[in-house]
Parts: sequence; structure tokens; C-alpha cells
Amino acid sequence: MGERLPLPDGSLAGWTAFPFEGDFQAKPLQPPVLPEPARNGEGDPTECRTCRTPVTEALWADEHWRLDALGTQLRLPAAVMLQPRGHYDLPAERAAELGPLLQRVERAILVLDGVARVHINRWGDGGAHLHFWLMARPAGMLQLRGTFLPV
Ligand SMILES: [Zn+2]
Repeated sequence: MGERLPLPDGSLAGWTAFPFEGDFQAKPLQPPVLPEPARNGEGDPTECRTCRTPVTEALWADEHWRLDALGTQLRLPAAVMLQPRGHYDLPAERAAELGPLLQRVERAILVLDGVARVHINRWGDGGAHLHFWLMARPAGMLQLRGTFLPV
């Protein structure tokens, strides 16, 4: 078991939007796990959740991309995922399309009632299939600003 480290000065815990109160302790830093375990769909695209989901379930799709709803469990005005239809990271042809697509989706979400901002995230630790999260921050919910919205 690793050593518990104090929260550093200037850490997120000091931000006014920090969503937790009371005693807050960081978990001990775990030792590295090498090699890392495979992500969903890594090595075998037939096991990929995205590739197995019919494109007919998408909110929108074209020849190369799909946009899927993330369901209602996030309780946000909008939460969607933009993903290529192919199982890959980001080839140059798709990269050239990405900026305009992200802008289109962001603008479509921003016209919804009660949306102040759209956050776009890419983490990629859970699934090997490239995916971008777009999450709408409710207007006036300042505690959900920035990195605290996904938290
Ligand atoms: Zn895939």
C-alpha cells in the first residue's frame, strides 16, 4: 500500500467549484501495472462495444462518423459521444474532418435551452475505439464548471 500524500497547495480541492466538502483524502498512489491491461476492443475489434452497436442506434451518422447519446444517467442537458465508424485511433483523413465536426456538434448543443457551455473530452483509457465526450454544462450551475462537470 502506497503512502498517502497531502493535497498539494493550489490543488483542485482549493477551487470554489470543488464538488466535495469535509475530510477529503487522496487515495494512495498505486504502483504501476505493466504491461497495462487491454482496453475494451483492443486487439480484437469484434469485442469493441462501439463496433458492435448498430449505426441505426446513433443520433446521427455519415460515412465515417457517428454521434451517440450517452443516456440520461448523466442528468445533463446533453451528453453525446462522437466516434469514427471505423475501429482506429485517428488517421489523417479523419483528423481533417474532426475540427469541423466537433464545432457542428458543439453548436447544435449550445442552442438547447439551459446550456451554458459544452465540454469536449478525450480520455481513451476505457475503450480502444477513438471517442470524444461532449457534455453540456447547465446554465448557472457554476459548481459544474470545467473539470468538475464529468466528476
Ligand atoms: Zn471499435
